[in-house]
Amino acid sequence: MAEFDLIKQYFTFEYDFDQNLKGNIDAEQASSKSSKSTAKPRVVKGVGDDCAVFDIPNNYQLVTSTDTLVDGVHFFSKLPPELIAHKALAANVSDLAAMGAKPLAFTLSISLPEVNEHWLAGFSKGLQDVSTLFKIPLVGGDTTQGPLNINITAYGVVKKGRLLERNKAVSGDDIWVTGYLGEAAAALELESKALGRQYNLSDAEQVLWNALTQPVPPLKFARKLTKLSRCGLDISDGLAADLGHVLSQSQCGAKIFVESLPLSDALVNSVGIDQARQYAVNGGDDYELCFTALSNVRNKVLNLAEQCGVNVTRIGKIIGSGLELTLYGQPFQSSRSSWQHFNQ
Ligand code: ADP
Ligand code: MG
Repeated sequence: MAEFDLIKQYFTFEYDFDQNLKGNIDAEQASSKSSKSTAKPRVVKGVGDDCAVFDIPNNYQLVTSTDTLVDGVHFFSKLPPELIAHKALAANVSDLAAMGAKPLAFTLSISLPEVNEHWLAGFSKGLQDVSTLFKIPLVGGDTTQGPLNINITAYGVVKKGRLLERNKAVSGDDIWVTGYLGEAAAALELESKALGRQYNLSDAEQVLWNALTQPVPPLKFARKLTKLSRCGLDISDGLAADLGHVLSQSQCGAKIFVESLPLSDALVNSVGIDQARQYAVNGGDDYELCFTALSNVRNKVLNLAEQCGVNVTRIGKIIGSGLELTLYGQPFQSSRSSWQHFNQ
């Protein structure tokens, strides 16, 4: 199969979640619309030309983030291709959520060892499904031959002044997280079992496996949170490591109450409470949001979370300096270090 047929068959999607994306829109019409202040950011051109084209009205900022997934490091090629696609896009969309951005579009650069149509059909189906789930269209990319390697670049938009940033935590802020922590890290131990006997996981193990392979970043909540908070990031390398970025960039410290970390029943029942806490503090791949907010918006944060169907938990406080982890008032001993490339 030739490169262009491959792109047409597997990487040119139709979307029905935004009529602007059904086809390439006449650029003139697009720019006349965008001159109004109510104009929304939009994709003007997707797959097919030398570049994709966006309209960005001047009260918005464009944000972008890129991630590369390498076979054997970030995933195993034995994983069903639908799941590889989900994980690859979700990891990028999680970065958009972390800035409080709304997804606009993404590009895919993929290197394939061979044209395996069965694999490509699964990957393409998974990618289209997850791109529809997050309402983020595929607008371009590059296709080459080589070891399996998947690079996605996601673009999002935020109204000016509404970003969530790592350097905006202030002493006295509450620290919050969305969802449940540690499930994905626990699921890594299930990998050989899950891949060997795909459907023989227990119910609890299946919950953990889904958290690892099909994370759903809290996009809508994150976007609305920009009315209540200026500081947040996504948890991809583990709570302690990621919170560390906030602390160093905001030049402050934090107290974390480990007993209040959100642990799912599935995790506690599978690995026990002690190990669950270790995973929650240091495990990677959660793709949940960690954010800070003034203590006088606690109720608003809780209400917003309820509106968005998201679980949120207050886990600590921003202080002057240092990172203190306590379990019922005693220092918490952490047993694992978080994942770092080049440093294992
Ligand atoms: P060029 O050579 O000008 O870079 P290509 O021939 O690589 O263009 O790609 C042709 C069109 O197909 C472009 O619009 C490009 O963005 C798109 N494209 C190529 N590979 C992919 C892919 N894996 N997914 C989505 N679009 C792709
Ligand atoms: Mg090219």
